[in-house]
Formats: sequence, C-alpha cells, structure tokens
Amino acid sequence: MTQETLNLYQIAQHQFDRAADLLNLSSDLRAILKNCKRQLIVSIPVHMDKGGVHAFEGYRVQHNIARGPAKGGIRYHPEVHLDEIKALAMWMTWKCATVNIPYGGGKGGVRCNPKELSTGELERLTRRFTSEIMPIIGPDRDIPAPDVYTDAQTMAWIMDTYSMTKGYSVLGVVTGKPVPLGGSVGRNTATARGCLYVIREACKKKGIELKGATAVVQGFGNAGSFAALFLHQDEARVIALSDSAGGIFSKTGIDPSEAIKFKKRTGSLVGMPGTEKISNQELLTLECDILVPAALENQITAANAHDLRAGIVAEAANGPTTPAADEILSQKGVMVLPDILANAGGVTVSYFEWVQDQQGFFWDESAVAKVLEAKMTQSFHDVFNSAQTHKVDLRAGAMCLAVDRVANATTMRGLFP
Ligand code: NAD
Repeated sequence: MTQETLNLYQIAQHQFDRAADLLNLSSDLRAILKNCKRQLIVSIPVHMDKGGVHAFEGYRVQHNIARGPAKGGIRYHPEVHLDEIKALAMWMTWKCATVNIPYGGGKGGVRCNPKELSTGELERLTRRFTSEIMPIIGPDRDIPAPDVYTDAQTMAWIMDTYSMTKGYSVLGVVTGKPVPLGGSVGRNTATARGCLYVIREACKKKGIELKGATAVVQGFGNAGSFAALFLHQDEARVIALSDSAGGIFSKTGIDPSEAIKFKKRTGSLVGMPGTEKISNQELLTLECDILVPAALENQITAANAHDLRAGIVAEAANGPTTPAADEILSQKGVMVLPDILANAGGVTVSYFEWVQDQQGFFWDESAVAKVLEAKMTQSFHDVFNSAQTHKVDLRAGAMCLAVDRVANATTMRGLFP
C-alpha cells in the first residue's frame, strides 16, 4: 500500500511508528500506545418525523487515558466510520499531550446526514446517542465536545440528558456548551486564536514580519474565518479565502470582516467586489508567506505539494497534509505547523471550560486569551526544541514530544494488573 492510499487510521499509526522509532520506544510501550483502549459501537433508534424508526450507527472511541480523562469531539457526518474515529481519538491523545493538558484522547461520531434531519430528529438522535454512550462518558471519564456538524446546542442536549439521568446538573460532562450553561467565553474563537499565536512564533523563527506578510486561508467556517480575521488584525495581507463553493483572490488584500458580511448576505464568498474567483486547487498553490488549511483532511497531497509556494503552512484543520506531501514540503523547506499544535487552541480552551465548570468560577475573555497565549507560545517552543533535538520536522517533533509524555505517564503508572 502506498502512503497516498492509507486511510486516516493508518496515517495516524504511520505517524506514531515514526515517533516511536525516533524515541526508541520499547515494543511493550508500542503495543499499548498504538491501539485504542476502548471502542464502543452503538445503534441509535430514532422516531423520524415522517413516521417509523431509523437506527443510526454511532461510535465513541477512547484511545488513551494515561494522563487524564479522554477528551474529544463528536461529529455527525454521512461518511463517519470507525477507523476515522479511531484516528481522530489517537490524534487527540497526542494533541492534549503536545500542549500539556491533563487529558487523554477520545472521539465520537454518528453516521447520519444532519442536513437532512429536522431539529427534533437531531435532538432525539443526540439524546439517545448520549444515553447509549453514557456508561463511558462523564467529567472524570471522557468529555465530548463539538466537531464537524455538531455545535453548542448539541452539547446542551448531551449535558441535559446526562444530568437528567444522574439526577443533578453535571456541567463538566461536555465542553463547547452555550456560555449560559457553563460554557467558556472565548471558546468559539479559540482554535483560530491558538493558531495565530503559533504563527506569530513561527514567523519569528523564519524571519518573516507578520505585518505585511501575505496569507491564504482555505475554509471559511469557525477555524478559517476567525484565523483570517486575526491575521488581518495583526496586519498580515490576506490575499485569498475559500469555502466549499470556491475561492476568491485579491493581490491588494481582502478584509475578512467584509468577507464574513458578504458571505452572510449572499451565502458565498465568490463574487465579493474587488476580488477574482479562483479554484481551491489554485488557492493552495498561491505564492504566500502563510497558508492556513482550515477545511478538510487530505488537501495537500503528493499531487500538489510540489507546487506549493508558501513559507509556513499552519494546519488549522485536522489531517490536511498526507504523509507523502509532508516529505515533499519538508524537502522544500516549508515550515509545517502540525495540526496537533496549530489547532490545539480549541481543546485548550475546552480544558479551561472544564476547569471553570469543576470550580464553579468563571473567567472573563481577557483571562482566557492570556492563559491561552502563554500555553500556545510555550507549546510552540517545546515542539520546536523537540524537532531540533531529534533533527526532524515540526510534525515529528510534536509527535516525539507527545508520545514521550504519554509513554512516561504509562511507565510511571505501570501495567494493571
Ligand atoms: P466548519 O464546518 O465551521 O467550517 C468548514 C469550512 O470548510 C466551511 O467554510 C466549508 O465551506 C469549508 N470547506 C468544506 N469543503 C471545502 C473544500 N473542499 N475547499 C475549501 N473549503 C471547504 O468547521 P471548522 O470547525 O472550522 O473545522 C474546520 C477544520 O478545523 C476541521 O478539520 C476541524 O476538525 C478542524 N478543527 C476545528 C476546531 C474548532 O474548534 N472548530 C478545532 C480543532 C480542529
């Protein structure tokens, strides 16, 4: 099997093997860390609006809990499958260890098309799914959060279902909740803000002045739109943006807040005055200082990596670069800020939310941003130093840092029984 035909879980395992080799990890530790601790597959029968019952399939996977409870999102998507959830759970273990927060890794998903479900059907599906995975979630066990096509409302239903079953309100069972229900201010901008903080540090290392640097952002949802906005606020020149309908380009720069307004009004970025239309493939190969993939997996592949002309790639999305593309970018001297570092701002503020829920004491937005900045800046330098120590790129450096932290925790705890 070539690297380009690996599925997501095989990619995750390939990345683990590389770090394990660099760390000279024992075969015993490899056996523990390479596999997911717990995989739950559930059937979710739901009364449909048109009558009748449909049984959806759902998953919750916990990869590792050596450093604390499992943590990771729940996605609703027609193509969700177990191997994808296992890969994402494993990446969550490494992501939480990279930014040194006391969590393991988990992920969940339901195979469904949320765009075809009514609000009532979504609520019934979410509540029944919660009930099915209830034995393995909880504020001390496994804490879900939003992911693709789930949001704060989904988290409110999970929190309510869990709480009603327990008989008391359990705020800390999920993060990414609405702020009035124990959510944290600053959570919806956290991924992009964290990404900006690591871009700032990367620019210093590359000798790029962020003010006046050119930036390109693929994907204009939560991660991408705020990343564009924050880069613009730091006076970078955002020259191209895109969403699933296509991309826009302007040599002189695009104001992302105007792009947000335009998209709200028309439903698309394409056609924004002062910009020309480009395809997503053209966008990825534009000459720029900073490229932020913030859409989907597998966007930068062996097919287009040779043509990339960015100085820094900051992976706001999970898994946007294939292993083969990684090698090409590394040879070209492109600095890739790996997803487990570049988008870890989201889970970091989820951690702050859980801490606030447990303490019943809530922070203001400036406190959240300040602690997040310190955490992300420190994590960038930890990853950079690890990469230098092992003489590898930043992804392998981050993986070595994370796998080493989890391996140490596992060794200290010992193997039960
Ligand atoms: P989202 O649903 O808010 O936005 C996704 C965006 O990608 C949309 O604008 C969509 O139009 C666009 N898109 C879809 N297909 C595209 C294509 N082929 N080309 C260009 N754009 C396309 O999702 P999000 O929360 O912003 O997540 C985006 C990525 O970031 C995902 O990989 C997600 O796992 C990752 N991520 C998000 C967070 C978070 O807190 N939101 C945290 C960590 C990682």
